[in-house]
Amino acid sequence: MKALTYHGPGEKGWDTVPDPEITAPTDAIVEITSTTICGTDLHILKGDVATCLPGTTLGHEAVGIVTEIGAAVTTVKPGDRVLCSCISSCGRCAYCKQGRYGLCVGGGGWILGHTTNGVQAEYARIPFADTSLYPVPEQLSDEQVLFLADILPTAYEVGVLNGNVTPGDTVVVVGAGPVGLAAIMTAKLYTPGRIIAIDLADARLARAREFGADLTINNSSGDPVAQIMELTDGLGAHVAIEAVGVAPTFELCTELVRPGGKVANVGVHGTVAALHLETLWIKGVTITTGLVDAWTTPRLLELIVEGRLDATIFATHRFPLDDTLAAYEVFANASETDALKVVLAGAQVAPAAHGSQKEPVAV
Ligand code: NAD
Ligand code: ZN
Repeated sequence: MKALTYHGPGEKGWDTVPDPEITAPTDAIVEITSTTICGTDLHILKGDVATCLPGTTLGHEAVGIVTEIGAAVTTVKPGDRVLCSCISSCGRCAYCKQGRYGLCVGGGGWILGHTTNGVQAEYARIPFADTSLYPVPEQLSDEQVLFLADILPTAYEVGVLNGNVTPGDTVVVVGAGPVGLAAIMTAKLYTPGRIIAIDLADARLARAREFGADLTINNSSGDPVAQIMELTDGLGAHVAIEAVGVAPTFELCTELVRPGGKVANVGVHGTVAALHLETLWIKGVTITTGLVDAWTTPRLLELIVEGRLDATIFATHRFPLDDTLAAYEVFANASETDALKVVLAGAQVAPAAHGSQKEPVAV
């Protein structure tokens, strides 16, 4: 089969590789019908993720059809349409029993397209199929559910829920990439007073307004902290969600949060960020960090079924799976292409069906 293979820093290929096979009784093989590329895949390609070894098939977000199951798999069968989540769960370890699947110590966690072959391929082996695959309701298209594989649960759990967004809150989202935009989308489920997006790129801020931000601030000039203070009677934001992953934006979040507020860090950081305890010690601020657990995937799926969330607006570009290398070019040059998420369609992508007629309220 064909797969997008990581060959070491800066090197990748759309290669012919062996078809995946069942290697444990809890495995399933899935034929990929839709997959997408994540900023994390670009981090891997830069060489930032040492735990991803050359030879690994990348990709941790997909929808597909089960073609084969191991002897122990009972909840999915060949022919079932399933969502492949970025997080796998052994279902048995102490963390999995608490719903902390991202922290799984039984062989799960973020393994797909990282420590085991991923889903940017014609077929993928999905370990722990019973506890890691999500059946897709028939009436939903691949694109309606694809972004449940990573950005929506990430932004919702690590941003909105960790930040404890509450009705009336002033929520600041720093970084209006796909994850920040998903944080705006899911924060709206809690009726915040207002959502303010901060980014360096005007095009991304325009997207933020499309996704429901009430105000936007371009921090390439001026003082974003002073602007937030002016908007909040000198207090600051109730919740600051960091969705970039660099030291200055984490530090910005800790400066613009009000006393008693929350800083929810979502960004993946590769360098040291300063924690200014000399000013923060007295402010009663809560700072949270984390990898997505994806425990909210069924709840978010329910919101999509009910027409309360429309995730299809993340899809800006579409390619056949065979054009994965071209899709990487478009995705990696988002400042020129204005790409948010690129959708790669496999040979037998499910026809677009729009089952729910309800008005989406969250976007
Ligand atoms: P992205 O690179 O597409 O978007 C980042 C946005 O931040 C861009 O719009 C960019 O213009 C903006 N930005 C860059 N520097 C800035 C600055 N100094 N000030 C303000 N804005 C700035 O990334 P994404 O795909 O949206 O992901 C966001 C972060 O979330 C990444 O670090 C990613 O690795 C991380 N992530 C975390 C998890 C998790 O489980 N915690 C899961 C997925 C992704
Ligand atoms: Zn586990």
